[in-house]
Amino acid sequence: MSDLKLCQGTKCHTYNTKDRLKGQQGNKTFQTRRRSALYYGNGNFCDMRCLNDWLYDFGNKAIDHFGRTTEVQHLTEEKAWYKDYDWRGNADESHRYYYRNAITKEQRSLTEEQYNNDNYTLNTI
Ligand SMILES: [Zn+2]
Repeated sequence: MSDLKLCQGTKCHTYNTKDRLKGQQGNKTFQTRRRSALYYGNGNFCDMRCLNDWLYDFGNKAIDHFGRTTEVQHLTEEKAWYKDYDWRGNADESHRYYYRNAITKEQRSLTEEQYNNDNYTLNTI
């Protein structure tokens, strides 16, 4: 039981789903969901509704605490490369891997090894 994670949604216990209704007959309550793994909001919420409830209640405080974005941010050409591939279904033909610049639309071929290598990048930091 102690390995279970509690959903951090502020209203999780108020949603009347069958799985939240727990307890002995005559003493049942709707309870916050407990799971061995939660899959929303970095493993803190049972679903999108609970994530959105938390964000609605605490989002402003969290943003003010960690720093509100006050200026437009820019993704420049030098950092706009992304990996992609054209899928080839024939067994005798391999997929075509490439780097593509989202701004200039320039395309450069990649090997499959370069495509799968998370450390290989054309983006400059
Ligand atoms: Zn929840």
